[in-house]
Amino acid sequence: MSTATQTTPDRPAAPAVAVRAPALVTGGSRGIGAATARALAAAGHPVAVAYRSGADEARAVVASIEELGGRAVAIQADVTDPDADVRLLDGAAEGLGDRVLVLVNNAGVRVDGLTAQLDDAGWDTTIDTNLSAAFRLTRRALGPMLRARHGRVVNVSSIAGLRANAGQPAYAAAKAGLMAFTSTAAVEVARRGVTVNAVAPGFIATDMTADLPTDELARSIPARRLGTPEEIAAAIAFLVSDAAAYITGTTLVVDGGLSA
Ligand code: NDP
Repeated sequence: MSTATQTTPDRPAAPAVAVRAPALVTGGSRGIGAATARALAAAGHPVAVAYRSGADEARAVVASIEELGGRAVAIQADVTDPDADVRLLDGAAEGLGDRVLVLVNNAGVRVDGLTAQLDDAGWDTTIDTNLSAAFRLTRRALGPMLRARHGRVVNVSSIAGLRANAGQPAYAAAKAGLMAFTSTAAVEVARRGVTVNAVAPGFIATDMTADLPTDELARSIPARRLGTPEEIAAAIAFLVSDAAAYITGTTLVVDGGLSA
């Protein structure tokens, strides 16, 4: 008979979920990031919920995690600021009591415009937020992961980086770049027990797609519906889990069959 779940006055019951390495989720205040923060917390990770402007939303995510017995902190930074990597990773380590060994680069923006019309600011913001910030955060996060011989980086890309979509040159370039960065970083650190993967969502029902004609979009998707943030979060949580220890350098497409 297993004694693992027996409770005695001097030996409390083991927690249902083992406590795991601290995680940082950028763009954790809304949409896919908020769902990911909750999914990682449910898997036992203390979570730093990073936000730019959504302080109330980030605090609500933290509260929902704490209500379920998890541990979370909210940390503010604009990921395009040059010192955001330091603020977020050092802040998360301080708030959670240990270094971050799980990084989810999820913060993103969509600035659309045909190539002949998109201005420099739209291009630069899109590349900086979706791609360069992920590089800077990953660069700083890798040191502790390599020393710990354990780490997980998951970059939130998009099927826009896999197939052409008129009007999204910057977004497509950023998300394709993120996939190439993912596989390159992965082979650099694989021998030290650190995995680097990407997820490529299709159309997901969040604020980012709120301006799109969802009924029309749904008809173009083999699954005949948009995905939910929780469905992307589940893929991210899988890539973070021990079950995915031998998966690295890959992009997991989660799109209801759209790109199949
Ligand atoms: P939302 O618009 O719902 O949320 C975007 C998140 O990113 C917010 O938490 C926002 O923070 C944060 N963010 C944006 N810019 C910055 C910045 N400069 N610094 C810090 N945080 C920032 O988007 P989704 O949840 O839909 O998107 C999440 C990720 O998924 C993005 O990378 C997106 O490109 C990708 N994706 C989404 C798809 C979709 O259909 N929704 C499809 C494919 C990929 P705050 O609110 O605090 O300002």
